Amino acid sequence: MACNNCSTRPVITLSNSNISLCRECFFRYFERKVGRTITKHEMIRKGDHVGVALSGGKDSSALVHILNKVQKRSGTFQLSALLIDEGISGYRAKTKAFAKRVCKREDVPLVIVEYKKEYGSKLDRMLKKSGSSPCTICGVLRRYSLNKHAHDLGFSKLATGHNLDDEAQSVLMNFFKNNMDIQARLGPVTGIVSNPDFVPRIKPFYLLTEKEVATYSYLKGLLLVAECPYHKEALREDVRNLLNDFERQYPGSKHGLINAFLRLLPLLKNEVKESGGSVKNCIRCGQPSARTLCKCCELVELLK
Ligand code: SF4
Ligand code: ZN
Repeated sequence: MACNNCSTRPVITLSNSNISLCRECFFRYFERKVGRTITKHEMIRKGDHVGVALSGGKDSSALVHILNKVQKRSGTFQLSALLIDEGISGYRAKTKAFAKRVCKREDVPLVIVEYKKEYGSKLDRMLKKSGSSPCTICGVLRRYSLNKHAHDLGFSKLATGHNLDDEAQSVLMNFFKNNMDIQARLGPVTGIVSNPDFVPRIKPFYLLTEKEVATYSYLKGLLLVAECPYHKEALREDVRNLLNDFERQYPGSKHGLINAFLRLLPLLKNEVKESGGSVKNCIRCGQPSARTLCKCCELVELLK
């Protein structure tokens, strides 16, 4: 078997098209696809300050690398990275050190925010006091810290490493749970109503599969194998396996699901907007929130 573009040995076969590509052709395919996604969804504009939500994992590390390339080529926006240190022993120290190396290599400024400083306690400690699932607590606090610091650092966009598999899983999970308000907040550029305190999130890997991002990261020396010890969201794991089984039997299913969702998304956003999906400001911390007291302040109160 040879690369479909040239006769070199392939490094990957794309599941939805059965096309095999060699290293150099794959890099070109990958980078072009990111470029087209950014352009099509108007993710980055002239004068933007883009912050990458960097975890040190394969997706966000590859995102720093590729956005840095785009930035150097265009020179029309600024690039930084923001890492949230939840305080998870046996995991975060390793990924934080890797993230620092990536940013040093790419010469991208990195800001690190710690739960311990922000909320007075590491996630490991918080979990001893709470009966909620780790990812529920961690997710609320991380979303809050990311937005708050992205805003304070002057980021106009927050780029996340979500890929097509992540999005397909979220879409299916929201359908299963009938979470249509949350569903409407997904998409390549998130958010429904604009609020000056809310930094829009962009997903440049929206149309690339997990396998493609992992292959790109590996070939670029950006693949760190580290899994959070709390990573056990049962429903997501089941949906992930279901989608992977389906993709094996019916190639192109994940792309089909995402393309169908993209056609539905404008209708969903309108429906949520019309049914009063407005953004207020939390009465305690002033951050944007759909409720009077934001979820983060509520959680911090409960954990006291
Ligand atoms: Fe936080 Fe859960 Fe992600 Fe671990 S897997 S970093 S606990 S959201
Ligand atoms: Zn609040």
